[in-house]
Amino acid sequence: MNVEDLLKAAPVSPLEARILIAHSLQWSRVQLITQSKNSLTPKQVEEIQCLLERRLQGEPIAYLTGHREFYGLMFAVTPDVLIPRPETELLVELALERMSSTARVLDMGTGSGAVAVAVAHQRPDAHVVATDVSAKALEVARKNALSNQVQIDFLLSNWYEVINKKFDLIVSNPPYIAAGDVHLTQGDLRFEPAEALTDQATGLTAIEKIIRGAPAHLEVGGWLLLEHGYDQASAVRELFASSNWSDVQSWCDLAGIQRVSGARLH
Ligand code: GLN
Repeated sequence: MNVEDLLKAAPVSPLEARILIAHSLQWSRVQLITQSKNSLTPKQVEEIQCLLERRLQGEPIAYLTGHREFYGLMFAVTPDVLIPRPETELLVELALERMSSTARVLDMGTGSGAVAVAVAHQRPDAHVVATDVSAKALEVARKNALSNQVQIDFLLSNWYEVINKKFDLIVSNPPYIAAGDVHLTQGDLRFEPAEALTDQATGLTAIEKIIRGAPAHLEVGGWLLLEHGYDQASAVRELFASSNWSDVQSWCDLAGIQRVSGARLH
């Protein structure tokens, strides 16, 4: 058997099959073409067929290859963390626009560390603190900070639990899918950590906790920016509606969906 035979028989799309075969053989895309007729060992074939079968059963490509690109950087991912999404790059953009080069930034529920690492990479003199309630997620995030050569202070914390200082900017992509939402039973989400996706309630409880706790951990004038679900923008703006906050607004992702909302502490 060779790559050509495997591609012909692959039970998944040719693009996905190529990604998984290249990953399994540790070959480049070019090798995949130029060496497509070279015989593979039975062990190589078996390993590839196993990966293709797992993909057929729905496992996300990023978990099968162990990595995903985000904001131009490479991130290790495991089933302990959410797979970084392109729409979350909006949260990074908005954060970068609102921080000085030496800002103190808090990323809560960092998961793979995607947001914190991307921010720290763009602003090497900023002081970035990232938290997660999952020790396993923090392990992945630490690895990603190291591989992307950025300095981040990681803390095991249930939201603000261990945070005892103030920041110039707070960002978070918290679990915001409501319990029972059909999306949780579809596609990649079936394989992702439930605690990173859903609050097991209305979808707004983590967001509400973050907003309520922010005034004690944010400098006056500092921004709080939150990613949320496609239909939550007005509900999140409502939660900001108190005398504590000004400039309450939402921003659209590339699909035109209001995806991030935020405000400044008064
Ligand atoms: N953006 C993810 C999705 O809808 C959910 C991420 C989250 O809950 N923070 O697939």
